[in-house]
Amino acid sequence: MISQDTIVSVSVDLDGVDCYWRIHALSGAPPEESRHAILRCCLPRFADLFGRAGVKATFFVVGNDLVEDADGRRLLADLARDGHELANHSFTHPYELARLPATQMADEIDRAHDALASCSGRAPVGFRAPGYEISAQVSDLLCARSYLYDSSTFPSVPYYAAKATIIAAMRVSGRASGSHLGSPRVLTAPTVPYHPAAGDPYRRGDLPILELPIAVTPGLRLPVIGTSLIAAPEWIRKRLVAASVRRRFFNLELHGIDLADAVTDGIPSALVARQPDLRRSLAHKLQALESTLAEIRATGATFRTLEQVPPAF
Ligand SMILES: [Zn+2]
Repeated sequence: MISQDTIVSVSVDLDGVDCYWRIHALSGAPPEESRHAILRCCLPRFADLFGRAGVKATFFVVGNDLVEDADGRRLLADLARDGHELANHSFTHPYELARLPATQMADEIDRAHDALASCSGRAPVGFRAPGYEISAQVSDLLCARSYLYDSSTFPSVPYYAAKATIIAAMRVSGRASGSHLGSPRVLTAPTVPYHPAAGDPYRRGDLPILELPIAVTPGLRLPVIGTSLIAAPEWIRKRLVAASVRRRFFNLELHGIDLADAVTDGIPSALVARQPDLRRSLAHKLQALESTLAEIRATGATFRTLEQVPPAF
């Protein structure tokens, strides 16, 4: 199937180990030696993977990591120089961003914006909210800062249902996840790029910013993200990729932790016990992502960073 008109964007959310710690409501803070594992161990693997595949990607960076981790900051600056995009993933990755008072919300966006601009020498133009949850206030703040796009909407029914189940099960066992379910309105949001409405980011409207939803399959809205591609048997993975690349735009979202090696990267065992993806071998995960990129390339689709997408829509 030839699909030269398809644009494919690959993005990586660089959530640190502490983010997953909060999702699973683990006590205390993660061990010090694991704090920068994602930027120091996983990010170089993505840089190599994209280098071999000839893909320029978008990295969603948590601003505070640029302040705390000089090595990670240097690597990200190198990637930006090499043509990859650095985009805003908030300053401290608060899962409750969309519910924060306006000044704190603005502070999260602005401090990450400034940290990214000073790292790469270029102001970011794109945003992804922690935990995929946005609000009309977040959209307004991004518009006021002339951001070209937001890519937080993840309109997947099975993903939403799974998240609801996990959060409820944790509550029953007396643990409160740091993650939030977010509005069910996301389930009826468009699955193709759209300009959101003022007052409702999940409905079409005429705000200047472009919303770039994360990929789901047509119909069932199955999630097509790194986690599902790595977990699926190969024949299902191939079908998910083939269905996604038939669309005009394929927004493939990955996470830094997708290329973690739980043994050598010092990922805490408490986290490995709770995340099945951490118990898969790095070789398997690399192979799934490498094959995915090769299958996309073979269709004739064009890879673009997310900031290069808005003119096409
Ligand atoms: Zn994140």
